[in-house]
Amino acid sequence: MAKAAKKSQPRIVKTVKALREVLADWRKRKADIALVPTMGALHAGHVSLVALAKKSAKKVVVSIFVNPTQFGPNEDFSRYPRTIEADLDKLADAGADLVFMPDAKEIYPDGFATMLKPAGPAAVGLDDKFRPGHFEGVATVVAKLFTSVMPDIAIFGDKDYQQLQVIRTMARDLHLPVKVVGAPIIREKDGLALSSRNVYLSPPERAAAPVLHQVLKESAKAIAGGGDPEAVLSRGRAKIMSAGFKLDYLEARDAATLAKPDPQRKAKLRLLVAAKIGKTRLIDNIAV
Ligand code: AMP
Repeated sequence: MAKAAKKSQPRIVKTVKALREVLADWRKRKADIALVPTMGALHAGHVSLVALAKKSAKKVVVSIFVNPTQFGPNEDFSRYPRTIEADLDKLADAGADLVFMPDAKEIYPDGFATMLKPAGPAAVGLDDKFRPGHFEGVATVVAKLFTSVMPDIAIFGDKDYQQLQVIRTMARDLHLPVKVVGAPIIREKDGLALSSRNVYLSPPERAAAPVLHQVLKESAKAIAGGGDPEAVLSRGRAKIMSAGFKLDYLEARDAATLAKPDPQRKAKLRLLVAAKIGKTRLIDNIAV
C-alpha cells in the first residue's frame, strides 16, 4: 500500500526566546500571525479554531499550556488530560505553523510576582463565583501569550463565553493590539459541546450530558418568543437537576457585559450554564 504523504510538522518551541526568534523572522517577511491558545487534549473544537486561524492570517501559532494558575486547589489540574503526541498530529493535519509548548517554569519562573486582576465580565457571579481566582489565572496567562507572540489576531471558542469576554476586555484595557475573535461551539451529534473534560464522563453521565444543550436551546427559543426569562429558566434549572446534575447556574445575561440584563434596555442576551455531573463540571452557552 502506498505510504501516506508525510505532512509537514509544525515547529515546536518551548521558550519565549526561541518563539521570538521565529516570529521576528516571519515578521521580517511581512507575515501576519494568528494565535490559538489551548491547554492541549485537542478535539474537533480546537481544530476548528486552527482552521479559522489559517483563514485569518499567513502564520498560525498554537500554544499548548495547562496553566496551573487558573485551576483551584480542588480542581483537576493534575489529572487534566495530556495527549501531546495526538495533539501534535492533529495540529500537523490542521496546518499549524508553530506550537508553543512552554514548561510551567518558563511562564512562572521563580520570583514571578505579577498577576492580573480582571473585573467587569470577570466579576458577575458566574464562573468567577464558582472558580475563585480562575479568571486571574486566565487573564494573566493570555496577556503573557499576547505579549510574547504579539499576534495580529487571536481565536477563542464561544464555548468558554465568559473567558472570551474577559479576554476581550483585558486586551482592550491593556491596549494590546490584537483582534480577539470568538468562534462557534463545535458539538457532538446529540448536542453536547466538545470539551477535553468529556473523557471524564462515565457512560450514564455521558448519556445525561446533552440535557444542558437541550435546555439552552429550548430556553433561548422560549425567551426569543416572548417568554418570561425567569419562568423559562426556572423550568430549565429543574430539568437539568432532574437529569442528575448539580447546577451551579443557568442564567440569562447581557451578551457583552455579562451583567444581569436591564429590562429597560433591549440588549442582546446570552444564556450560560454550568453544572456538575459526578465529578465532572461542564459549561455551555447559547445566544438568544
Ligand atoms: P481549552 O484547551 O479547553 O482551554 O480550550 C482552548 C480553546 O478552545 C478555548 O478558546 C476554548 O473556548 C476553545 N474550545 C473548547 N471547546 C470548544 C468547542 N467545543 N468548540 C469550539 N471551541 C472550543
